Amino acid sequence: MGGNELKYVTECIETGWVSSVGSYVDKFEQMSAEFAGTPYAVATSSGTTALHICLVLAGVTHDDMVIAPNITFIATLNSIKYTGASPILIDTDEKNWQMDLNLLEHFLKEETEQQNGACYHKKSGRRIPVLMPVHVLGNVVDMDRLMALAQQHNLVVIEDSTESLGSYYKGKHTGGFGLMGTFSYNGNKIITTGGGGMIVTHDAALAKKAKHLTTQAKSDPFEYMHDEIGYNYRLVNVAAAMGVAQMEQLPGFINRKKEIIGFYKKELEGVGDISFQEVSEEVNPNWWLPTIMTTKQKEVLKVLNDNKMQSRPFWVPMNQLPMFKDDIYIQNNDRSDFVYRHCLSIPCSTNITDAELQGVAGKIKSVFQS
Ligand SMILES: *Cc1c(COP(=O)(O)O)cnc(C)c1O
Repeated sequence: MGGNELKYVTECIETGWVSSVGSYVDKFEQMSAEFAGTPYAVATSSGTTALHICLVLAGVTHDDMVIAPNITFIATLNSIKYTGASPILIDTDEKNWQMDLNLLEHFLKEETEQQNGACYHKKSGRRIPVLMPVHVLGNVVDMDRLMALAQQHNLVVIEDSTESLGSYYKGKHTGGFGLMGTFSYNGNKIITTGGGGMIVTHDAALAKKAKHLTTQAKSDPFEYMHDEIGYNYRLVNVAAAMGVAQMEQLPGFINRKKEIIGFYKKELEGVGDISFQEVSEEVNPNWWLPTIMTTKQKEVLKVLNDNKMQSRPFWVPMNQLPMFKDDIYIQNNDRSDFVYRHCLSIPCSTNITDAELQGVAGKIKSVFQS
């Protein structure tokens, strides 16, 4: 919060424009569209609600299935369940920690079929309208390959790009590859509005519908006329004011994230069995959340947290949570579980000092010296 946040928020309060409309909402949407390289952006109350609206707009209903990675933050799966649809979980690539596209390809080839230009799951007979990749930790899925698979099997792509603001694939920003993409401004993301989200798209009609659905589907500017079941998923102007101030600082935040990962890689690569997330040449990631892989995961977590250096294990794989235990999980040796048991995220706030980074690296190294 080192920029114009206080100034812009104060202006909202002094003018009274604090709620669901206001010039900062428009400005934040405009800046976000520009940054993501899409013509349209619609602000939402969170990344989760952004995902939910995208699925509704893609026509996903309770009879459908949606393909998603087994390693992701819970919000991806929650948004699918809100529509009543069931997820098809795809195991993780143990090198880049993204959805394993070999497995995805194999699944689509062997277990789905085309009917009237739509993809169906052979065994259950359920339609699969949407493929939802997640750009895990700001690294980017191989989008050429994923988009080709989606096209071949008539799947709409909705990108959960919530972690990848500032990440590029072949020079193109995430969120703009599929029909719609999403961002999150929760407190732990690369920029924050306290809480908030964004939908980005190339499609003017979809952007208009997204705005409509997030504002209770109000269809008359004066009368309380509503033409379908809508949602109160708007971002308030006072939060958008913070968003504008944060966007102004985003290039600096990304630079600092890159310095942080550069430091950790220099200090820790080759220490014990520590390895980092593999990033392909086509990808320029934002390095939102530096994460290491090691068989000494538990020991490193303990040393760091005992020394008040906040460190967390990776997400519990979705198939291990009670809500998804009966859903389909396409796996290869359950590498999600392997990644979960060996990865941990290490301190990486943009305002961490170089001395603090040195301290963290020293503590991690100490685990491998004893
Ligand atoms: C943060 C996040 C979300 C949702 O964001 P909220 O703004 O917290 O609702 C969705 N998916 C992934 C992968 C995330 O990391």
